[in-house]
Amino acid sequence: DEGIGAWVARRAERSPEKVALIDGPSGARTSYAELDRRVGSRAHDLAGRGVGPGDRVALLGENSTAYLEWLFAVARLGAIAVPVNMRLAPAEVVHVLADSGARLLVHSAAFAGLAAAALAEHPGVDTVDLGAEPGTDPRREREPEAGRGGEPCVIMYTSGTTGRPKGAVLTHDNMLWNAVNMLSAGPGIASSDVTIAAAPLFHIGALGLSALPLLYAGGTVVVVPSFDPAGFLDLMAAHAVTTQFLVPAMWAALTRVPDLDERSLPALRWAISGGAPCPLTVIERFLALGWTFTEGFGMTELSPAALFLDTTDVVAHAGSVGRPFMHVDARLVDEAGTEVGVGEVGELVLRGPTVFAGYWGRPDETAEALREGWFRSGDLGTRDDQGFVTLVDRRKDMIITGGENVYPVEVEQVLHRHPGVADVAVVGVGDPQWGETVLAVVVPEGDVDPAELITFARERIAHFKAPRRVELVTELPRNATGKLLKRVLREQFAGSAA
Ligand code: ATP
Ligand code: MG
Repeated sequence: DEGIGAWVARRAERSPEKVALIDGPSGARTSYAELDRRVGSRAHDLAGRGVGPGDRVALLGENSTAYLEWLFAVARLGAIAVPVNMRLAPAEVVHVLADSGARLLVHSAAFAGLAAAALAEHPGVDTVDLGAEPGTDPRREREPEAGRGGEPCVIMYTSGTTGRPKGAVLTHDNMLWNAVNMLSAGPGIASSDVTIAAAPLFHIGALGLSALPLLYAGGTVVVVPSFDPAGFLDLMAAHAVTTQFLVPAMWAALTRVPDLDERSLPALRWAISGGAPCPLTVIERFLALGWTFTEGFGMTELSPAALFLDTTDVVAHAGSVGRPFMHVDARLVDEAGTEVGVGEVGELVLRGPTVFAGYWGRPDETAEALREGWFRSGDLGTRDDQGFVTLVDRRKDMIITGGENVYPVEVEQVLHRHPGVADVAVVGVGDPQWGETVLAVVVPEGDVDPAELITFARERIAHFKAPRRVELVTELPRNATGKLLKRVLREQFAGSAA
């Protein structure tokens, strides 16, 4: 029944000297005993500012060890952390502050300007310096462990890929069971593990897949404020990283490091991609290097780990996102909620202790998403006779052209294989004849002829799936975790026929 605030205290009792956190840029190490003390001190500070159970405390900052200390401190008081995406515009930060009803904003010096701009529009929120050193007064060491299992731990905003970010309420139990799922999957996670929290901690990926499971297990988390591919590989080698989660855009960036083949990472035993479809070409590149490279499927609303392709299956079932984690039930259902057969496309619905408690302040959307304990993901997929799930796409991104369903991800995977394609997004745009038509928006690599790309696709997939139109651009719109913002492309190219 304990909250996550107790995890650090328990680890500190059992292995006080063990290194919990490492600050990537400076190399400074924080033991579990020291982390426990710092968390206690920060919790005391928050309590002194009147923060108590159920209060929302917003966190705004680049990844840092202090960021995680504040998160645990908030949890220890039974208050609710609200991680804020630091790439938002001031008005969007206001939306998160107002929507969550945060009473305090803990922000780093780097985002003082953004915080000030937001608070000018939304006054009445006190601010705290995220980077301030916690007090050392011994009386300030420990706050009562108020955060309890079933109570909210964080309000984590979804990525906003398909619309306005929604505040998913994740409980302490959600985080616990997510950690258990990670510890019991594939190669597993143990106290000997080392990882780098490189994806932003304000999204569930780095928090739920890197930081929290490792700290639950008593492992070590290296925290870096930014990602540069070659520097990241150096850091992996320097810290003998054993397990690593990154989003596909980050893995793809590593494949472009010129001397990747000469890099030796003997300690690495589990590389995980998730959060968006990983180009098969990227997976193949790492498998060719002999890495244990696996793919997982997750969602903010699922804390986030849901499906996982085990090491032993990654070759035989390449392209699949695997089977459910230990404590997740998954099904593919039709519009009526009936399970579909092997090979048929259905919506992925999930059940279990990692399913979120609902969208903060949105009872209608919560009721729409949660039906009798099953969470409707909005993602479409198929399963084979062994239960391996292959995602086809989001329901919202599916294209219907001339009455045929086209799943853009399938078309993107094909176009990624063309040497003239550096990056690609496939979307449906309105078409008087076909209802919608398949448009490929391509970032070219060198000289590439759009007509040639259409032919290339037609040789490999059904004609109705191949793009009818190709637009060349210098960059695709992506959000902080590298997800394609297809709604932006649909708007940009709507109507303007080729
Ligand atoms: P919003 O809900 O605000 O539109 P979002 O759905 O992108 O944004 P997240 O919760 O961060 O927000 O992402 C979950 C989604 O990411 C899933 O629903 C799925 O579409 C996609 N996704 C996650 N992992 C994978 C994967 N391995 N392969 C393909 N898609 C994935
Ligand atoms: Mg979503």
